[in-house]
Amino acid sequence: MARHLRLIAALLTLGALTVTACGGTSSDGSTAPPEGDGSNPRIVVTTSILGDVTRNVVGDLATVEVIIPADTDPHDFEPSAQQAAELRDADLIIANGLLLEEGLLATLESAEADGVTLLYVGDVVDPLPWNEEGHSEGEGGGAVATPAAFTDGDEEGHSDEESHDDGEYDPHFWFDPVRVSTATGAIAEAVAQNTGLNADTLNRQAAAYQAQLAELDTALEAQFATIPAERRLLVTDHDAFGYLADRYGFEILGTVYPSGSELAEPSAGDLAALAELITETGVPAIFSENIASPELADALAAEVGNEVAVVELFSDSVGGSDSGAATYVALMRTNAERITTALG
Ligand SMILES: [Zn+2]
Repeated sequence: MARHLRLIAALLTLGALTVTACGGTSSDGSTAPPEGDGSNPRIVVTTSILGDVTRNVVGDLATVEVIIPADTDPHDFEPSAQQAAELRDADLIIANGLLLEEGLLATLESAEADGVTLLYVGDVVDPLPWNEEGHSEGEGGGAVATPAAFTDGDEEGHSDEESHDDGEYDPHFWFDPVRVSTATGAIAEAVAQNTGLNADTLNRQAAAYQAQLAELDTALEAQFATIPAERRLLVTDHDAFGYLADRYGFEILGTVYPSGSELAEPSAGDLAALAELITETGVPAIFSENIASPELADALAAEVGNEVAVVELFSDSVGGSDSGAATYVALMRTNAERITTALG
């Protein structure tokens, strides 16, 4: 037994030396691991998009597990038994909330009841309410809206403690990089409080990522500004792009799926009405999404006729490693390019 412990100690020392020799990332010269007891904190994130944001905050301080894989619809994703166990054993769960992960809700609630700390990021980013038609209701209200300042106010006055889980709010806040910047700060704070990882390092990494997000916002604003205002009309598979519309002055003309998720199928009448609207407005593209089959978007395009293109965007999950959308920032840039090409 004692020999075993000595062997483990020797291996740990060797491991530490290896890290010191080839690492070099520690700017303050300390070689001690961030955790006093040597155990790695378990940070589990539901969506691939928030997983990428969290990895940018955490860096190499800890491993971040993501439950919902790339190119997968988070609205109806159900966890495996192993994933449910991972969630139960987490030191911190980071979830989108606002009813995005409907299929995970029971598992999240039971983990929370077991004492796991949960950060519902959607609750702290001043989410937009859905309006009566299901689209999110921003301040701008359509095609002539200009982006708000990067440091925006909190007009709605939501308290951070308020729970937005009744389906009243649009959960797709990541299409606004300013809100993702707010989310980044909240994630850094929650990780520091619940894992014992070094708060200064987390804040520094979060700030570096926030600088990238500010750059992204500026780039998107400039790119979308090249599309004439009257052509900034989006027809998408499901109603995921309300925050993009609100921030960059688009109007959501219609969606193939009638509600905020893809849980309800459109009727033939819904599709015919949308096809007519597309014909009337001369919209040149219907945007399908990486998380779902393009079947219905294709059917809609067929109903409209040959003059409308079907173009895939990345919506509720990042894409695979060769997709050009494997990270949140890449996803936003690729979407912007495709939208600008299709509508510009
Ligand atoms: Zn969605």
